[in-house]
Amino acid sequence: MLSVDEAYRAIVAAIAPLPAERVSLTAARGRVLAEDVIAREAIPPFDNSAMDGYAVRVADVAGAREDAPTTLRLAGDLPAGANPAGVRVEPGTAVRIMTGAPLPEGAEAVVMREDTHEHADRVEVRCPAAPGEHVRRAGEDVAAGQVVCRAGTPLKPAVIGVLASIGAAEVLAVRRPRVAILATGDELVGLADALGPGQIRASSSYALEALVEAAGAEPIQLGIARDTRADLAARMAEGARADLLITTGGVSVGDHDLVKEVLAASGEMAFWRINMQPGKPLAFGHVAGTPVIGLPGNPVSTLVGFELFVRPAIRKLQGHAHLRRPPVRASLAAEHVKRGDRRQFLRAEVTWEVGGFVARLEARQGSHQLSGMARGNALVVLPEGPGRYAAGDAVEVVLLEEIESYASGHPDAE
Ligand code: AMP
Ligand code: MG
Repeated sequence: MLSVDEAYRAIVAAIAPLPAERVSLTAARGRVLAEDVIAREAIPPFDNSAMDGYAVRVADVAGAREDAPTTLRLAGDLPAGANPAGVRVEPGTAVRIMTGAPLPEGAEAVVMREDTHEHADRVEVRCPAAPGEHVRRAGEDVAAGQVVCRAGTPLKPAVIGVLASIGAAEVLAVRRPRVAILATGDELVGLADALGPGQIRASSSYALEALVEAAGAEPIQLGIARDTRADLAARMAEGARADLLITTGGVSVGDHDLVKEVLAASGEMAFWRINMQPGKPLAFGHVAGTPVIGLPGNPVSTLVGFELFVRPAIRKLQGHAHLRRPPVRASLAAEHVKRGDRRQFLRAEVTWEVGGFVARLEARQGSHQLSGMARGNALVVLPEGPGRYAAGDAVEVVLLEEIESYASGHPDAE
């Protein structure tokens, strides 16, 4: 039996990032950049005004005061987008200039409109200006010729903005993984079917599709395989056309748990037991070169296995350097006794209180009780071996959701 960390390392070591493709900047959102991008253009591309105001010469306004303004003659008007050719700030003059407009020749600084008063063809300036004041220099954000983004950078919104600012209409980005989802079990039916005797919904298939999508990959539903070698082999072969195949159920020691056997016969079964609870029976292998993660059938085990192994595997395919959510520390709201040797992942509701995160364990901790996980927003990680925990003890928690979901109190009370 492997430890959680051994299994994690074995899985991510067996998976390589997907090839890259040149795509539009819009299509690249959320992916990982696969090239160093060099700025052909400087940002800003030209010296420009940081304020709405007046472009001036420093010497002209050196003596300007609130109670002793300097009067300058207006020699032009430069809105944003204007061509400054032919506009010049001569001694004794100023040019009206708006934020983002190019600095005219002869200008050394910009005086804010708030420190001036304009009438007719003159402007009174009520304060002096330092050289370069309220001027944004060409290239002071990004210099031309500089590497703006390195290969491996996740294309988050601010990075998309930087790339757009230098005119990168297309970028080389790692391809979006296609992840096939295969449920197994004679008892399973889909949402469109009526429940017969002994049947349940293949609920995990729907949850997994949502998780794959949330991880930035493309889910491919392969439906429900019957518990026969032939059906499993045929559908796993189909799943091997994706970049990653995940299956649910059929990996334990039951009479009809055939996933491991078919995996071994169709390709390679590397290991199938992990020292964790829930989710001990979890198989990893390959079919036709495609990695296969056989998740356990109980829905909570399925989702915990996804978080610990599938999500990192998807991120590895996507070219990310950081694969796992780092755990944070929380204090337990109530005492807890842990039995058993396995590392435990308990479903909890974590809130951010003054002083840190607080974790309340859900009442329903059965691996078949997905409602406990649905109510919660985190996993409390308790280390291998038995343990007694008092209220207030610090534990590790994996936060599964967006940070807003940890706000305490009434939703609008922030
Ligand atoms: P198994 O390992 O195949 O025996 O499955 C363990 C338990 O999980 C059984 O109670 C199955 O009915 C249940 N199960 C298996 N697959 C799914 C699924 N896709 N959705 C919900 N429950 C499932
Ligand atoms: Mg089964």
